[in-house]
Amino acid sequence: MQGYKDNKELKICVHCILDNVNEPDLLFDKDGVCNYCNSYLDSAAALPKGEARDKRLNEIVSTIKERGKGKKYDAVLGVSGGVDSTYLAYLCHKMGLKLLLVHCDNGWNTELSVKNIEGIIKYTGFDLHTIVLNWEEFRDIQLSFFKAGVVDIELPYDYALIASIYKVAEKHNIQNLLSGHNLVTEGTVMPKSWRHDKLDIINIKAIHKMFGKQKMKTFPHFSPWKMSYYTLTKKFENIRMLNYTEYDKKVSKELITKEMGWRDYGGKHYESVFTRFYQGYILPEKFHIDKRQFHYSVLICSGQVSREEALEEMEKPPYTNPQMLKEDMEYVKKKLGFTDESFDEYMASPIHKHTEYPNIGNYWKKYYRVIRLLKPFKLILRPLLEHK
Ligand SMILES: [Zn+2]
Repeated sequence: MQGYKDNKELKICVHCILDNVNEPDLLFDKDGVCNYCNSYLDSAAALPKGEARDKRLNEIVSTIKERGKGKKYDAVLGVSGGVDSTYLAYLCHKMGLKLLLVHCDNGWNTELSVKNIEGIIKYTGFDLHTIVLNWEEFRDIQLSFFKAGVVDIELPYDYALIASIYKVAEKHNIQNLLSGHNLVTEGTVMPKSWRHDKLDIINIKAIHKMFGKQKMKTFPHFSPWKMSYYTLTKKFENIRMLNYTEYDKKVSKELITKEMGWRDYGGKHYESVFTRFYQGYILPEKFHIDKRQFHYSVLICSGQVSREEALEEMEKPPYTNPQMLKEDMEYVKKKLGFTDESFDEYMASPIHKHTEYPNIGNYWKKYYRVIRLLKPFKLILRPLLEHK
């Protein structure tokens, strides 16, 4: 992987394990610490600690309950069966909140993720609303992202999940939108060149229109403008509750395993076969991106893994089990309709940027004057900024 991207001289952050070859936009301060570490440390410093944190958590829970008064549900929470959302569901149950869980099924769930979600329901007794994406249509959208040669093939699913949560919240008039997203295991933002804006429905539609074969008919849609409208008029709020708890991944895993029968997937976001193959094979082999590098960097920043441990882990291949890689590859090819030849062709095809296609950034520029007028109203822009 080294030497890729203009044979740039390799420089690794002295604090985490990110480097300027795999993340070309990486910036270093005078001490050799990268901008992601500094951004993490600034965000961590801004969060309350100790008693102040407990007090803040109690205030948040009271607000959620207040807003949920007289309603069937206090809050909505998107669940994947992963550690973060499972632990948050556990916590909310302990704090007496009434949740409506939302799961978006794109046809790539592992059997284990289905079992883990069942475990949450059994333990908490919360209702679950599952949105099953139309497979033929979603497959056509996914394939159009392959054809476009862009990096963020997960964008359609990530957007569909966010849109589904808003749609469910709108239907049941639930103002509190909880998410398992948290600073200590997910950091602030993923390197820019590794992903695209998760709210960019304009990019999804444009790529699909250009390369897809079917019409987009059932794909969940909830425009960023509509999200802002709900934030402003209905006081919808995205709440990252785990940021106000003592969240330790290892401890949480042990707890949900013991209490809820949760079982480990062996990797972050490995609850979907596609995500596992995308992160474990497509990203490293085609795009020279290994997301573990960022995941470990965040855990180093939050003190949950040492730099030495992370470097040691990175020596291992993303798929530690070659048989699993073989099976996943066969499964993904077959499900998406690739032949061995057409898949090899894709892996060798040129890479294109999302911004080579119509995108929300162009849209913003077009309406720059209007947006500049709106800028002082940060509240309006909040949902747009939060999902970046
Ligand atoms: Zn760093």
